[in-house]
Amino acid sequence: MEYQSFLADRTRLMQTNAIREILKVVSKPGIISLAGGIPSPQSFPMDLFKVLVEKVMTKYQSRAFQYDLTEGFVPLREQVSILLSRRGIIASPEEVNITSGSQGLLDAMGKLLINKGDKIAMESPTYLGAISAFNPYEPEYVAMETDDLGLIPESLDETLAKYSIKLIYLVPTFQNPTGRTLPLERREKIAAIIQKHNALLVEDDPYSSLRYQGEPVPAIKTLAPENVIYLSTLSKVFAPGLRIGFYAAPAFLRQWLVLVKQGVDLHTSTFNQALAAEYLEGQYLDTHLPKIIDLYRPRQKAMQVALEKMMPQGYVCTPSQGGMFLWVTGPEGLDDLALYEKAVENGVAFVPGRFFYTDPLQGKGTMRLNYTMADEATIETGVEKLARAAGQLTG
Ligand code: PMP
Repeated sequence: MEYQSFLADRTRLMQTNAIREILKVVSKPGIISLAGGIPSPQSFPMDLFKVLVEKVMTKYQSRAFQYDLTEGFVPLREQVSILLSRRGIIASPEEVNITSGSQGLLDAMGKLLINKGDKIAMESPTYLGAISAFNPYEPEYVAMETDDLGLIPESLDETLAKYSIKLIYLVPTFQNPTGRTLPLERREKIAAIIQKHNALLVEDDPYSSLRYQGEPVPAIKTLAPENVIYLSTLSKVFAPGLRIGFYAAPAFLRQWLVLVKQGVDLHTSTFNQALAAEYLEGQYLDTHLPKIIDLYRPRQKAMQVALEKMMPQGYVCTPSQGGMFLWVTGPEGLDDLALYEKAVENGVAFVPGRFFYTDPLQGKGTMRLNYTMADEATIETGVEKLARAAGQLTG
């Protein structure tokens, strides 16, 4: 059957997720995958789920299975409001909304704000899922300059002066894909710049709780509350499959975001929100988060040490103190896809870095490595194989 004519124009803009395609290859037995982008199942509080289910059943009974408010389950919004206040973000429960994962808000932002040809300013590289969420709304991307510390504030200032920018999208802390973090001085400059230009910034923050070294850095939301939509998730500190994300947005946007969500899914699963509310209210996050950090910290360290020790000259890893990824830039002229093929031949996989750029000419000598899914010994063997592949490539 001829089916192309059934598809909407926007559907053509939804490319298959390149990373998904790669993950299909690497699920073959015998390949060490540093390509994943997901938390370790060992990080899920498995024993606790039974306790939480019991609590939800007793406390909320049929309410946990009923339709609920689009804005979110009130007991969860109360808890998220407390969680945000610990991050220095002042948002009452009424000012907090729940989404189906933070991904749900990225799509809603695109739907709400982006006309064809509107400009979104991004870090380069940036989170692939944000590009996928925005693409169907046909934006143009403006890539801003970055270095090992993230966005260079002057580049943001120039971009806002030169173009009419609808939206700025940033992952300031332990960014996916680079693992890098914007220091406070840059956040302060960025806050002042977006206030000066009356600009709107999406601060996507799924990873700041996963800090293995160093001191926390305040969210940009704390510095320019009226200009920032702060977005976070329980995916990395509870369970991604429950799809619980949350955000604090300026008042003028909140009602529209709720309307958009109403049309998409009415609301996020009541039962899952109730589980999340009990997780936070019972202070279980406080006891469980250190266990997740104890699991990941040595994995990150093992990968940093192995990369430093084993990779040939010219391969440099971006410094990182947390999150789930490390970013490696190869020597001048490296082709990340050629290295990927060699790496798979040697029994290891990563994500070629070019997929994280909106400009198809950029990122060809880069790679993203994940360290949450493998233990330290496997990570070391994986990096050894990668180093061998890199050596073979340069001859
Ligand atoms: N933003 C970033 C930067 C991410 O890395 C992820 C997860 N890969 C998400 C958003 C989506 O997370 P979730 O929808 O599970 O909250």
